[in-house]
Amino acid sequence: MLSMHTARRTVALINVLCAAGEEAAVLKAVREVLVEYGELEPLGIRGDDLADLRAAALSLREVFAAVDVDSAAVTLNGLLGDVRGRLRLTSHDGSGGWHPHLDSDDEAPWGEWFLASSVLALTVLLWDRQAPPGGLCSSPSCPHVYLAHGSGPERRYCSRRCATRERVAAHRRARAEAVR
Ligand SMILES: [Zn+2]
Repeated sequence: MLSMHTARRTVALINVLCAAGEEAAVLKAVREVLVEYGELEPLGIRGDDLADLRAAALSLREVFAAVDVDSAAVTLNGLLGDVRGRLRLTSHDGSGGWHPHLDSDDEAPWGEWFLASSVLALTVLLWDRQAPPGGLCSSPSCPHVYLAHGSGPERRYCSRRCATRERVAAHRRARAEAVR
């Protein structure tokens, strides 16, 4: 499902944009995500775009911070109110497959494009699943967001790495308690 592809890209971009780091390093990470998810070079993305991209990432992070489907829907409705375009399909003059846009222009600035395409994908995901699109990593030392599994046990961590680290820490705490 292409909306899932976009939602995964949203998560990857939020996670690089909300990380602390120097501008050049963050920009490089953003470029890598965009290329990994199929954006074609030259991207034409610059340091000037970072402020808008970061603002969009922080707004989108609120959707992942929502505690249940109702509050995720309210948050998404607020963001849908910020989106400046009308819903339409574009193929960028035949250079890509047909896909929906919600930004003010098919070639809108990166920050606007990121917010609009992400809000659209997360809206479709919430609609499909009748559940929040994802959550915040439960590791206290990790700022990442994650996409919820479509089915199966509920997810709590952004990655296997975080899950393992927290399991080991819990184990250590339990052992320390037992010794006491
Ligand atoms: Zn994590």
